Amino acid sequence: MANESYRIEYQPQLVEDTVLWVIAGHPEEKSFRKERNPIYQLPNEEEREENFQVLHERWYDHLGLSEPLHKVLAIWPIIKLQTHKCQVVKARSKKDVGAELYIAADTPGVTDREGRSIAIQVTPELLGQLQNLLTFLRHEFLHIVDMLDPQFGYKPHLPKSENGPIYDRFLQERYGILWDISIDGRLHRRRWLPSSVKGGHWTTFKNNFPGPQSDLEKVFDFFFNNISPKHEELISFSMSSESWFDTSKSVSTIKGQCTLCHFPSFDLIDASTNLPSSIVAEIQNENPNWQSNEPICHQCADLYESRVW
Ligand SMILES: [Zn+2]
Repeated sequence: MANESYRIEYQPQLVEDTVLWVIAGHPEEKSFRKERNPIYQLPNEEEREENFQVLHERWYDHLGLSEPLHKVLAIWPIIKLQTHKCQVVKARSKKDVGAELYIAADTPGVTDREGRSIAIQVTPELLGQLQNLLTFLRHEFLHIVDMLDPQFGYKPHLPKSENGPIYDRFLQERYGILWDISIDGRLHRRRWLPSSVKGGHWTTFKNNFPGPQSDLEKVFDFFFNNISPKHEELISFSMSSESWFDTSKSVSTIKGQCTLCHFPSFDLIDASTNLPSSIVAEIQNENPNWQSNEPICHQCADLYESRVW
């Protein structure tokens, strides 16, 4: 199994753009241009394209640009064992940058491994900065490792709810935040991320999960320090964080349910007296049945505030 070939496919345009970006001002730029310029003289267009592609691929390797991906694939053997290829393509925009696992529908005669592949979307600038690329790939690939690892127990769909679109959106966001905390916690443990990463995640965590400070600190440490997190734990805390807290303290501080997202909350606010009318109007615009004296949580208030400003 381990000896089965693994394919890494780069989009030729991405390789060209990256090499040209890296070589500008590079000590070897002269020798690169010396090899590249004569290709323009070739009379046949197809031949020219082919020669350019071969040259760019060779220089891509020569400049050490393929190393980060090989390094990361070597860290987690499960990736090569459970997927058969990795495609690297140019991201259309900054928000598309990332790596995804694709799983083909069951087809007779196709093994699970043959049905799984990875697509990485990057910019030439990211591909050309080796240390940043390594950091990026470790984070992205650990997500994929979790998805492939039976111990993690990944499920592609979050539980269905009847609490409406805001609830679903918050659940998705909370799950993503917790997963990222557990990913970077493990990378930090291996000294691949600086200690400052913990503070950044703690701030995001506090802003998205309401609760008593001491309980939140305990749960945050649980996820940040967990070396084998489970999908079910991430879901459980995302859906009912209050059930993870020290009950005697937390039950007395829960104020009730937010009338917009339907999550239990520790500090509900009265929108009619605490929020500008523009925000109240925005909420009513999207939730026609909601009355401004129905209590809402800070997370929902923030969500609508960010839309108005
Ligand atoms: Zn809410």
